[in-house]
Amino acid sequence: MAKSNRGRSIWKMESRSRGICPVCHATRVKLLYAKTKSDRTQIKVCKKCSNADASKIDAAIPTSQLAYRRKHRKTFDLQFNSSK
Ligand SMILES: [Zn+2]
Repeated sequence: MAKSNRGRSIWKMESRSRGICPVCHATRVKLLYAKTKSDRTQIKVCKKCSNADASKIDAAIPTSQLAYRRKHRKTFDLQFNSSK
């Protein structure tokens, strides 16, 4: 099996394949696993969330326009949890 999720090949991808996981909100993780939500949008999730069930995937939030830093995590998590 080719190591498509390892080594130099993932460096070529956007932000070197790293970012915020839209499901578990972990920062600077490698987003290597493509998941399809029920509305057919594709999202990239981290390894931990690659086996998450569909309801968790559907609850994923868009991270692209999120000004997300570690020091903002508390306020962000509060907003996210209260909107549920
Ligand atoms: Zn994740």
